Amino acid sequence: MTSEYSAPTQFIDLAAQQERIKTELYAAVQTVFKHGQYIMGPEVSELEKQLSSFTGTRHALTCANGTDALTLVLMAWGVGPGDAVFVPSFTYVASAEAPAQLGATPFFVDVEETTFNMSPESFKQAVSDCHAHGLNPKVVVVVDLFGQPANVDAITEIAHEAGVKVLVDGAQSFGAISRGRLVGAMGDATTTSFFPAKPLGCYGDGGAVFTNDAATAATVDSIRLHGKGSEKYDNVRVGVNSRLDTLQAAILLEKLKIYKTEIALRNAVADRYNATLPHEIDTPKITADVTSVWAQYTIRTDERDSLQAYLKNIGIPSVIYYPKPLHKQLGYDKFPMVSTGLETSTLMASTVLSLPMHPYLDIEEQRRISGAIAKYFVC
Ligand SMILES: *Cc1c(COP(=O)(O)O)cnc(C)c1O
Repeated sequence: MTSEYSAPTQFIDLAAQQERIKTELYAAVQTVFKHGQYIMGPEVSELEKQLSSFTGTRHALTCANGTDALTLVLMAWGVGPGDAVFVPSFTYVASAEAPAQLGATPFFVDVEETTFNMSPESFKQAVSDCHAHGLNPKVVVVVDLFGQPANVDAITEIAHEAGVKVLVDGAQSFGAISRGRLVGAMGDATTTSFFPAKPLGCYGDGGAVFTNDAATAATVDSIRLHGKGSEKYDNVRVGVNSRLDTLQAAILLEKLKIYKTEIALRNAVADRYNATLPHEIDTPKITADVTSVWAQYTIRTDERDSLQAYLKNIGIPSVIYYPKPLHKQLGYDKFPMVSTGLETSTLMASTVLSLPMHPYLDIEEQRRISGAIAKYFVC
């Protein structure tokens, strides 16, 4: 791209990615138009095969979106009224919405300041607190925020001791690695989202469930297809309609081919930010033996709001993920929370700022962003 007459900096540049694989995408879409199997066509099963081998997980089942993916697993595990589902307060609303929709109680847990992810200590406290609320500890939703896997080992140890199942919400972390394991292979089940802005996104809505447990996989498969039994018109349970379109699967198959390269590019962008941002900024910390896919590159500063206004003024986009923790949202503020409080979640919401992050962010553009932030702190 020409830098002299360069287009405005994009927060996420989906057009650059499309340009790179346009021919392949058009051909893939055309193939679907030709065979006409728009629902559960051959691309859907091919994608599921590839997702399973990519993640090293026995079962990969696609569905309509990342929120449904969470709901499908919770339904398969029989989650409902009287059950506590532990959720970090600092996350996207869907992590709490799925259990709330099923009549279960989202129980808010605090996060760690270093990783933005669920604190195992806070979770442990929440498990013992939930009995006082008359709730049965059932599932913990472990969110890999901004693309970095959470401390799933510590959380799983606490969870399994208490008979709590572990559901990893990997909507932002597909392709990330923790201690040699790909996202999908951790927890009792993992979900992801293919929403366009996620690291691996399609051109609409999409999601998937991963699990090594055959029973969970079989039940999710039934629930996503109206509770089917041995065939479509045999309905053995109350299910939902949640399928990935064949067209989206065809697009994802092409995007998956370049995904590992894109993850490397995202990491190069993050490394450049780390090296060039001024010391007044708290840059994101990645745990040892973890590789993030950088769904977001999120910095922290006490001057967040004025820095964001300054950047906006000079045409540099930034976004606050998330301005309000879930326990302060009108739709969720009645749900219980851990007795030790949610101070870190609240602090994060008032100090975080996500900078432009995508595989095609060029060095010049990035230099301009880091330079502008440095200049802000000099002024
Ligand atoms: C995006 C997201 C979801 C929901 O995914 P959709 O495909 O938009 O339904 C769930 N959890 C987290 C953490 C997300 O970022």
